[in-house]
Amino acid sequence: MRLGIFGGTFNPIHLGHLIIAQESLYQFKLDRIIFVPAAMPPHKSKCNIAIAYHRLRMVKLAIAGNPQFAISDIELKRKDKSYTIETIKALQKKYGLQTELNFIIGLDALLEFFTWKDASELLELCWFLVAPRKGFEVNLLDPRIKHRMRFIDMEPVNISASKIRKRIRFHLPIRYYLPEKVYKYLIESSVYDTK
Ligand code: ATP
Repeated sequence: MRLGIFGGTFNPIHLGHLIIAQESLYQFKLDRIIFVPAAMPPHKSKCNIAIAYHRLRMVKLAIAGNPQFAISDIELKRKDKSYTIETIKALQKKYGLQTELNFIIGLDALLEFFTWKDASELLELCWFLVAPRKGFEVNLLDPRIKHRMRFIDMEPVNISASKIRKRIRFHLPIRYYLPEKVYKYLIESSVYDTK
């Protein structure tokens, strides 16, 4: 089995995430993609992280109806900081050594790779499916990671969760940046208080 693992804050999940996931599935013939919302991402400040409950709900709404998309609360349950190495090891154990693990990641996030916990060991455990991101150049990547990377062939999608949160703060429209159900949930549940 070829598994995609898509870790992220998903604060909120948006169309950029879903397009990357679908392209990965198609281009690398993955059997399934597991979205793994992070509890306390070590690389992001804690402020502005919508509470885990809402982020989980929004991911569930976004992937509903796609039988090849699934969600895992493994990092949320851990409560402590989310380290990718621990998640990958847990998933490898769950799915067995014959399962190929592919970690889906944006180029921006991969640039910091060697600051991650046990980065070198992580390179042994999974492939990295890398999505282009506007403003980030491939030649900035550490050469030590290149043999484990596979590029997702796609145009950069210029949507980010921080851009969406910013637009909410400034009362700008966000409707078509996210799946419709996520948009409605976000508005109805006042996930991001604009006060
Ligand atoms: P924020 O703007 O708050 O930093 P984000 O939009 O990058 O959030 P995350 O949930 O942090 O969303 O992202 C999870 C993963 O998806 C990361 O590897 C990130 O690089 C990648 N990603 C998110 N949006 C895009 C995009 N539009 N293009 C490429 N990669 C993306």
